[in-house]
Amino acid sequence: MTVVEPEVMPVRPGHTELWARRAAPTPSTAVREIFAAAARPGIISLAGGNPDVGSLPLEALGKTAAAIITGQGSRALQYGAGQGTEELRSQICTVMSLEGINDADPDDVSVTIGSQSGLDTVTKILCDPGDTVLTDDATYMGALGTFSVYEVDVQPVLTDSDGLVPEALRERIDTLRGLGKHIKFLYTIPNFNNPTGVTLSLERRQQVVDICREANILVVEDNPYGLLRYRGDALPAMRAANPLDVIYLSSFSKIFSPGLRLGWALVPPHLKQRFLIIGESSTLCPPAFNQMLTSAYLRDYDWQGQLEVSRAAYRLRSDAALSALSETMPDGVTWTRPEGGFFTWLTLPGAVDTQALITTAVDACVVYFPGAAFSLGTAPSNQLRLAFSALSPDLITEGIHRLAPVLARF
Ligand code: PMP
Repeated sequence: MTVVEPEVMPVRPGHTELWARRAAPTPSTAVREIFAAAARPGIISLAGGNPDVGSLPLEALGKTAAAIITGQGSRALQYGAGQGTEELRSQICTVMSLEGINDADPDDVSVTIGSQSGLDTVTKILCDPGDTVLTDDATYMGALGTFSVYEVDVQPVLTDSDGLVPEALRERIDTLRGLGKHIKFLYTIPNFNNPTGVTLSLERRQQVVDICREANILVVEDNPYGLLRYRGDALPAMRAANPLDVIYLSSFSKIFSPGLRLGWALVPPHLKQRFLIIGESSTLCPPAFNQMLTSAYLRDYDWQGQLEVSRAAYRLRSDAALSALSETMPDGVTWTRPEGGFFTWLTLPGAVDTQALITTAVDACVVYFPGAAFSLGTAPSNQLRLAFSALSPDLITEGIHRLAPVLARF
């Protein structure tokens, strides 16, 4: 009897022949190189937008953490409900009331692994490969990463110093529909956008939601920075008056701790079950211990007082950045003036490629994020993001003084 040997595929290094299509796009090495440069001694990094966790009451939190393990360890170290604990979901409703969302029921809230996993779940529910998502121009690079994995067609919409331009949104929807595109949602960061620092004006908030409603497109409002306003008047979330049209995502990463990886989603009622089932398929449930620590923080600590402390610190940092920019920047460079959050966005005159300038900046011991990181195209960008959240005012000033000559050379 002849034995037929099964055909064995040769194993190639990296098993690239086994990769799914969604894993194929080459991830940006630029981003990793910038983080590597940022970690070098002597470099001032205006690249990463890390929140200031150093001012948290760390010693007291340590005791609270220990008490949770010793007192409630069998719950804290166990699986929990996919939707999150009831206590945290009702505390989240209180947090959202500070953003003008007063009608949320804890049952409509799902705790997520940061806002990032909320966006992943939303995209998974709504987008087939090739579907279109509209975004601010520019937008958060982590969202672009998610959209890329789900093979979404990303279409940025004109954004100015008051945020998304409603007329441009309407026109873009019409044009894309004319081309047969299947537009699923608008992803927008209305408060202190990452990367631009820009805030969507009150008037435009409702116009944008109305345009999307009329066009039967959902709005995904990503609002991790809303409570970090240090200038101007607070504006209501887009979700506040529009419970059926807006999927609201937010996070404890900027108002408490990114290390605990907790965020939440408030979704319209008809999406609630979908959100839970699809979310659980990725994460089963949010971490029980982290939820208990966060609940204890919101219950037993003066977290709103702590927010005041953070806002005051970020205001000083943004002031330092804005003064250093006006003192040092060459003619023709412009920048945004954030009313909150972590970032300002610079535009250089002419056809400068801020990605190509990175090596010179690193030689001058300063690093930033080039504008190209915040869009999916391959076009060079004459813009860049400066993050001032994680440094003292002195270091911010020094970093910008180092950057100015780099930008002046071109
Ligand atoms: N959305 C925006 C706009 C962000 O800036 C970030 C983090 N930088 C996230 C979402 C993700 O945050 P997390 O998953 O930590 O909540």
